[in-house]
Amino acid sequence: MPSYETIVIEAGKKMSRLSLTVSTWGNISARDPETGNVYLTPSGMDYENCTENDIVVFNAMGKRIKGRRKPSIEKDIHLLIYQRNGHVNAVIHTHAMYSTILAVAQLALPVITEEFAQAIGGEVICSEYAIPGTPLLAEHISKVIEDGHRAVFLPSHGALCIGENMDVAFKACGVLEKAAEVYIKVKAMGLEPRIIPEADVGHMFRFFSNQYGQAAK
Ligand SMILES: [Zn+2]
Repeated sequence: MPSYETIVIEAGKKMSRLSLTVSTWGNISARDPETGNVYLTPSGMDYENCTENDIVVFNAMGKRIKGRRKPSIEKDIHLLIYQRNGHVNAVIHTHAMYSTILAVAQLALPVITEEFAQAIGGEVICSEYAIPGTPLLAEHISKVIEDGHRAVFLPSHGALCIGENMDVAFKACGVLEKAAEVYIKVKAMGLEPRIIPEADVGHMFRFFSNQYGQAAK
């Protein structure tokens, strides 16, 4: 298995290449569930140029234990989510275009595609507004995650997805962005998207979590 530093760096490159963020914005972290250590992207660095030494590592108490770079300004969001949500081991904050449109409009995104039901499992709402990098924004975001959401819009800002690991969180970010685009375009046609009933969403989410894909060897 690659190091957690590498997992974070590769996710950053992918986020940048898939245009899920703009320039150096957005941030990514992973938690090692065995040690509780959190690996976070540095502030304002090009994802393509990040190396293992640029990743900032915090222990389970939130104390920096490795890395000389200034951490992402949203470190409080990442650390608070891990502290309060034991099942979360990856957090990705994007500035993706269509997710940002809904965040700016302060709209919730209902479950409108099956992959959305499978990867996110419930509607995505907007958190309350707070200025980036503040403890208050961390509080607002963490509260939505504690309420059981796996993704959230940040008003005037972007989106954030969590997962049990980086693959799960990354899939959620991609699916969210596509669903946001589909939603906006259906609305732009003057039509109403079909919202998948809650019972079906629950069924698909459980199936995807437990049975979809190839069993691990
Ligand atoms: Zn941001």
